[in-house]
Amino acid sequence: MIHASLKQLAAALTARRISSVELATLFLDRIERLNPKLNAFITVDRDKTLEMARAADALRAAGSGQVAPLNGIPLAHKDIFCTEGWLTTCGSKILSNFVSPYDAHVVAQLKLAGMVTLGKCNMDEFAMGSSNETSWFGPVKNPWNTALVPGGSSGGSAAAVAARLAPVATGTDTGGSIRQPAALCGLTGLKPTYGVVSRYGMIAFASSLDQAGPMARSAEDCALLLNAMAGFDARDSTSLERAAEDYARDLDKPLNGLRIGLPTEFFAEGMSADVRTAVEAALDEYRKLGAVTVEVSLPNSGLSVPAYYVIAPAEASSNLSRFDGVRYGYRAPEYGDLTDMYAKSRAQGFGAEVKRRILIGTYVLSHGYYDAYYLQAQKIRRLIANDFVEAFKHCDVIMGPTSPTVAFAFGAKSADPVQMYLSDIYTISTNLAGLPGMSIPCGLGAGGLPVGLQIVGNYFAEAQMLNVAHRFQQATDWHLRTAGLCE
Ligand code: GLN
Repeated sequence: MIHASLKQLAAALTARRISSVELATLFLDRIERLNPKLNAFITVDRDKTLEMARAADALRAAGSGQVAPLNGIPLAHKDIFCTEGWLTTCGSKILSNFVSPYDAHVVAQLKLAGMVTLGKCNMDEFAMGSSNETSWFGPVKNPWNTALVPGGSSGGSAAAVAARLAPVATGTDTGGSIRQPAALCGLTGLKPTYGVVSRYGMIAFASSLDQAGPMARSAEDCALLLNAMAGFDARDSTSLERAAEDYARDLDKPLNGLRIGLPTEFFAEGMSADVRTAVEAALDEYRKLGAVTVEVSLPNSGLSVPAYYVIAPAEASSNLSRFDGVRYGYRAPEYGDLTDMYAKSRAQGFGAEVKRRILIGTYVLSHGYYDAYYLQAQKIRRLIANDFVEAFKHCDVIMGPTSPTVAFAFGAKSADPVQMYLSDIYTISTNLAGLPGMSIPCGLGAGGLPVGLQIVGNYFAEAQMLNVAHRFQQATDWHLRTAGLCE
């Protein structure tokens, strides 16, 4: 059961081979046994989970076949999503006592679909990081090798799914935080087109870049979870009003004639040899499936990391100003006047990486530097988006590595923030352009660790990307390889 796909779980529930309560118990027991080794969950609440599972079972019993396709299936939420009645920490001390009074749109949608919350997953503090080492709740371990990082910032979600502590999970991606941990943990993850999934109740990091998406073992599972996550929501002013889509509709389409663009810049130096070998073998597989590869260019992609590290901190410095110790969250126990209370609460409540971003963000937005940094970065952002528009004239999807290396050791990059920031060198440009991107397992690299292949599609091409990923997963078994802790 722990390896079953969403479709198989739904079939088992429909046929009454298992109840939702039994299924939730199975995963809760695994969490109890394995989470101490992984630290993938910040909060687990057996009673709340079982209550939801009982409700799903009751609905099925009453509705005789009328229930939603994912009814009764458990999932885990990244702790960036507000969940009514549950602790919602965003991986930070400053929210370590925050019980959300409402549900994020995504959480509400998945509840409506009858899904059962197993718990809240660990993450880099305020989603700032690529290794899960910035969480106030301690690092998450990679289930493939617990001496290594799971990637970040959705590393708890990735570790939970990779270790089969949950069938699927939610994640968020501002610069790569769904795709990079998916790559490092051997999962399939999708960041949708900006605006497809509502950001309401998703704690804001960089609002013009943040987007939620599914993390799962297969493209098919991602499609089914995205079906339940996506949709217009008036409470998010950037949510797009579009007709509902079935993201699974094209999964089985043949790939004959598919034009895969390979950006010169992604295949220049940068990725490690083992990643290159796996990515090239995957491209050969695609050629066997009938696709053709064409060279394309994203000439400004080298500017994506510098532009991102101006824009994202700028937005973060503004978004994080709400955490002041006054209304909710952590307040310093001792302080003088009001200003001192703000200063001490923030000084004690935020970790080093978050403070670094607030300082950079405040600096680039300040009078005298705004034009030199922030405005310049916004212009680069436009150039990067235009590069993709040009590239998509010559291809249907773009492929390349997700991450330059496989999972790395704890501490390997934490002393040098720039090294850490470069973990997202292949993923960040899609966020700046607002394009959808995904990562699928495409081989094993050094140390037998998973390698991710990145697929970038045009705006609203999620169904096509899922098709491209699914056909590969029908022909190969990389996505079925499991981490050591999966027995
Ligand atoms: N690693 C990047 C950062 O630290 C991206 C994080 C994310 O996508 N949330 O900002």
